[in-house]
Amino acid sequence: MPFDPIADAFSPDHASARQRWLALVAARGLAVESHPHPLRGPAGEVLAVDVVRDGPADAAKVLLTTSGVHGVEGHAGCGIQAGLLALGASLREAADADTAIVHVHAVNPHGFAFTRRVTHENVDLNRNFVDFGQPLPEHPDYAAIESLLLPPTWPPTPDNEAALAARLDAMGPRRAQMAVTRGQHTRPMGLYYGGREPTWSHRVFREVLRRHAGTCRRLAWIDLHTGLGPAGVGERIFASHDAGAALARARRWWGEGVTSVHTGTSTSIPMTGPIQQAVDGECPQAEYTGICLEFGTVPLPQMMAALRADHWLHAHPEADAALARQIRRDLRDAFYTDTDAWKRQVWAQGLDATRQALHGLRQPG
Ligand SMILES: [Zn+2]
Repeated sequence: MPFDPIADAFSPDHASARQRWLALVAARGLAVESHPHPLRGPAGEVLAVDVVRDGPADAAKVLLTTSGVHGVEGHAGCGIQAGLLALGASLREAADADTAIVHVHAVNPHGFAFTRRVTHENVDLNRNFVDFGQPLPEHPDYAAIESLLLPPTWPPTPDNEAALAARLDAMGPRRAQMAVTRGQHTRPMGLYYGGREPTWSHRVFREVLRRHAGTCRRLAWIDLHTGLGPAGVGERIFASHDAGAALARARRWWGEGVTSVHTGTSTSIPMTGPIQQAVDGECPQAEYTGICLEFGTVPLPQMMAALRADHWLHAHPEADAALARQIRRDLRDAFYTDTDAWKRQVWAQGLDATRQALHGLRQPG
């Protein structure tokens, strides 16, 4: 049976995604570099960040893909990576001989395995790449609404919802989204917590980046996410703080539709400590061009309610088992639409963006 990217690439959980991935790697005759996580998965299974390099060890050009930076979002990202790996030589034909394609599978394996967006430290990995040598950013807007976001009981009471809505309405939509999602470093049990030190996944990812892109001349990076924007639509969000030449290059490669959190053209917002900050430290020699490819799932209020419930459950391990199961299901549904139609959209756009990146790497910088 030929590999079908819709039926065969996407997985219902981290354990099966990892098994599928390791089988594909073996079938291609590639080496896997596994970084085992200190904790085990829900069934006692090994959790790991698994890295595969398809191409020369000393390639001048590297295309990097990353999945599961936000744990549960790995359903889509690992699915795309599995499809790309299964394409094998036919994908490599789009690349120069001195190009390596490096897939980092499940950057936050614990979050994927336990159906959470955050790491086992309750940290949003995409808010964790701040300079911990400097005073951490304050975020008073978040602190002011946290008790409403995470009320004592779940589901929230009508009074709680009304009070939260009133506070967010008063801020206006963009400031309200920033208040919740920009990243905060003072409430360890809260939402979008950036942490007070590098997480395990942060440290592993820096090592991987150094090893696989520390000497290349050009680096392209597609970081795969879900949860924001219209269902099935892959928004290409510029992922660098260099809004000059790098943004122009990203738009040449991936189209004028590439959005930016800095200009308000994206459904996302500027955040503290995105993972792409690691490029400055680990591959300063490389010309870097990158996007986040962010696939929409459910409407924003539904996604936010699911995230609030997840953090409420984290703070209330004594919660009723049926409620806990429902919260897990709702969280998964908020970041993964388990239908053929959605997977088809995700796969087609993931493949398209990958081919565009390989084409871009062939052009002069
Ligand atoms: Zn994400």
